[in-house]
Amino acid sequence: CGASSPVPMTPKKSQQWLQVVGHAGSFHVGDYGRLLKRFCKREQQCYLRLMKDALRPFVPEYHGVVQLDKLDYNMMDNLLTHFITPAIMDCKIGSRTYLEEELHIARERPQPRKDMYEKMVAVDPEAPSIQERAQQAVLKTRYMQWRETLSSTASLGFRIEGFRKANEECHTNFKRTKSREQVMKAFDSFVESSTQIVWGYLRQLKQLRQVLETSDFFRTHEVVGSSLLFVHDWTGRTGVWMIDFGKTVILPPHLTLDHRTPWAEGNREDGYLWGLDNLIDILANMLPT
Ligand code: ATP
Ligand code: MG
Ligand code: MG
Repeated sequence: CGASSPVPMTPKKSQQWLQVVGHAGSFHVGDYGRLLKRFCKREQQCYLRLMKDALRPFVPEYHGVVQLDKLDYNMMDNLLTHFITPAIMDCKIGSRTYLEEELHIARERPQPRKDMYEKMVAVDPEAPSIQERAQQAVLKTRYMQWRETLSSTASLGFRIEGFRKANEECHTNFKRTKSREQVMKAFDSFVESSTQIVWGYLRQLKQLRQVLETSDFFRTHEVVGSSLLFVHDWTGRTGVWMIDFGKTVILPPHLTLDHRTPWAEGNREDGYLWGLDNLIDILANMLPT
């Protein structure tokens, strides 16, 4: 969790930027309260295409590349503007959070990793196989795939990365939040049991789903490690946006995805819409019948 360094003098004028997850050092607040995120070519390419796509209203407005202390940044709108002391949640969408190309790279140099073995044992001493235990190491590919089964990523197609309620600390302890019930409990805590807020989010998620189903950008990209950012405040205002396109890659010309077909290596499917379907279903179940 990081917070922008300049403390707002008049909260009404300049909305302070608060970060839920991600690398704290990669962000700065720029002019007009815009956000600077450490430059990533892939992310830039995505934003440039998104500015011409039906999805434009569902992503932060992109303002090009700027330099700060000799480093490049992608400049975009701060989505917290227009909210008053907002609550923020980051949900990573999709049934896997590594790209197929990451698997290929990890496989080219199959090194047994002691650090990953230790991380695995720290979470679940039963997880390593007999062979892995003997080596006190696991392959990176194995570690990547195991990690997705801990949270709801593999089973529901999304996971909560973290949230922060108004004037509270960040909650980021969701690495093992996996079942529908656990997820629902976390959402309920985030919205403080407000059905009005749940209604607002549901309406916007359904709109987003409709647009995703018609978007050229979405059909032609493998969308991995991208999040939905949920923002609401005490006035009852809600907003949901797609963010983080550092691992979103364009597909070869002949290939398109439906984002619901289960992933089998080679088909590039990311489970994005399947995860969004599950997310919508869970939120709908939080409303009184
Ligand atoms: P990671 O790859 O580890 O998920 P990252 O360094 O790529 O993280 P992002 O996921 O893009 O960073 O953003 C991290 C956090 O910063 C988000 O969870 C959100 O709280 C905040 N954030 C990012 N973009 C915006 C934005 N446009 N407006 C407001 N907040 C944002
Ligand atoms: Mg992210
Ligand atoms: Mg990222």
